[in-house]
Amino acid sequence: MNLKSLSSEELADYLTALGLPKYRSNQIFAWIYRRKVCSWEAMTDLPLELRRFLEDKGVSLGCLPVVSQVRDAGGAVKYLFGLDDGETVEAVYLPEANRKTVCFSTQVGCGMGCLFCATGQRGMVRNLTPAEIVEQPLRISVLTGARINSLVAMGQGEPLANYDSLLKAVEIINDPRGMGIGARHITVSTCGIIPGIERLAREKYQVNLAISLHGADDQLRDYLMPINRKYPLEPLLEACRDYISRTNRRITFEYTMIDGINDRPSDLANLIKLLSGMLCHVNLIPFNPVPNSEFRRSGKERIQKFAAGLNRAHIKTTVRKERGGTLAAACGQLQGKGSL
Ligand code: SF4
Repeated sequence: MNLKSLSSEELADYLTALGLPKYRSNQIFAWIYRRKVCSWEAMTDLPLELRRFLEDKGVSLGCLPVVSQVRDAGGAVKYLFGLDDGETVEAVYLPEANRKTVCFSTQVGCGMGCLFCATGQRGMVRNLTPAEIVEQPLRISVLTGARINSLVAMGQGEPLANYDSLLKAVEIINDPRGMGIGARHITVSTCGIIPGIERLAREKYQVNLAISLHGADDQLRDYLMPINRKYPLEPLLEACRDYISRTNRRITFEYTMIDGINDRPSDLANLIKLLSGMLCHVNLIPFNPVPNSEFRRSGKERIQKFAAGLNRAHIKTTVRKERGGTLAAACGQLQGKGSL
């Protein structure tokens, strides 16, 4: 049993089933998420026999070892965590003045095969458990000493392809008795898994939704993102509109700018046509080089032209500030090796 996969209520039920009083679960939950300890020994207000009992039963606190870490000049740090089965997974700390963000992973590898993505080149290995998801921001808060107040599910993997574990992790991370990070400070990014978007629209946790778009017509998107053949643009945008009307929340569309591929005037026109009148925001991302890819980044002028065109059409657009690019931790660059 890994306790980091349990919500506070589930932890209480688990300990009750072992014959322990409910208040013990409050104590243990606080030790894990407030004091962030990694050993039973550290839980000094629990009776020694109880700590030995839980340890002997093999109850795990789910702390992950850091296999490697790389820091860039701006303070971004990429961590490679070791998992119990020998796999590894990456998460990135992105500090700003008032915002301390962790970009976390939801799968080892990814089965979506987006052409511009380093993780996609590896293929799907396995889903992460809720504990393995929760542990990434928790461990990074210990390692950096920072109060993490913003999370983005934009690391390795497609979050909505591991829906139940993701939502369980959100519940645990959101719990005010634990890390207490509000759902509105958590962003889930998807390549466009329509059933997942439909489920998310009906959840009590109002996380932010980001769609990795990267192409504004089906032919281009089929080429860049094979998932588009299963969930093409028309039903995808319909699911987005339904999400907005149910939640009254703005959606972010991410659009990686790739030279000569999706940055032509016709692409801009298609994008404007697709998103006009929607409650949305477009985030243009200068393409980050990945191994074995011939794609190149669009020129600065082209990116600015794209942004200006969208803003002129009343589609609020920003160009993503580049973070982590020097340590291969930028969008689409994570591949679970800790370095490139
Ligand atoms: S961009 Fe996201 S969904 Fe696409 S292959 Fe990479 S990790 Fe998977």
